[in-house]
Amino acid sequence: MSLLSLNNVEVAYDRVFLAIKGVSLEVGEGAMVALLGANGAGKSTTLKTVSGLLAPERGEVRRGQVTFRGKDLLPLSPPERVAMGLVHVLEGRRVFGHLTPDDNLLAAYPGRGAQSSFESLRDQAYAYFPRLAERSRSKAGYLSGGEQQMLAIARALMTEPRLLMLDEPSLGLAPVLVKEIFSIIRTINREQGMSVLLVEQNARAALDIVEHAYLLENGSVVMSGSAADLKQNPDVQEFYLGGG
Ligand code: ATP
Repeated sequence: MSLLSLNNVEVAYDRVFLAIKGVSLEVGEGAMVALLGANGAGKSTTLKTVSGLLAPERGEVRRGQVTFRGKDLLPLSPPERVAMGLVHVLEGRRVFGHLTPDDNLLAAYPGRGAQSSFESLRDQAYAYFPRLAERSRSKAGYLSGGEQQMLAIARALMTEPRLLMLDEPSLGLAPVLVKEIFSIIRTINREQGMSVLLVEQNARAALDIVEHAYLLENGSVVMSGSAADLKQNPDVQEFYLGGG
């Protein structure tokens, strides 16, 4: 069953520039899906359209529908979308550098209306990311880039999402860390049935963990398919996987 669905969505910046031009895509319940493409292809804009975080005054949805759990998302505010079970980890790991990981997690915990206690969610997040538990009392600003990315994901888990949207979690990280973080994301998906929409320029790493992917070029989906099929595709190999 489809959890998130975009149908022919068009988004313009500053009234004239079309950043996405009729994008349609689906994320099924419990699925892991990647949105791949080069710099400026429209990946972040697509995620922001879903979470409601398009630049105010500049970005607008011109056309199309976005539904989540069968409901029209577009009239809802970003917090209402979070309350429905949708969370967006922005590019660039924006953690609170002056707070400890514990306090970063607490700041993300919704409190009233939450299904689980803060302590149980925090302990679960630390079980997925044991490195964070070790650093739980140092300021987040002192954590490594990889640890900050882990914290950004752990923070998103505090809202108990049904859909976790991640924007470029691999950015600037060493390959071994990308592997570690992607494998944890996969484990969370398997154990909790949480759907994942992963935006990546690192197509190789992404296609190793997702089941399905969409390729975005200049604001349009130019190809989509199973990860296995895309990995075999000669164009994908040449342009996205660096020649195989
Ligand atoms: P990146 O990996 O660089 O984030 P992307 O695929 O996520 O790339 P977007 O960030 O969605 O691409 O950008 C798509 C296009 O929209 C780009 O040409 C970008 O310059 C433009 N754009 C993005 N944000 C804004 C904004 N706030 N105002 C005007 N144009 C924007």
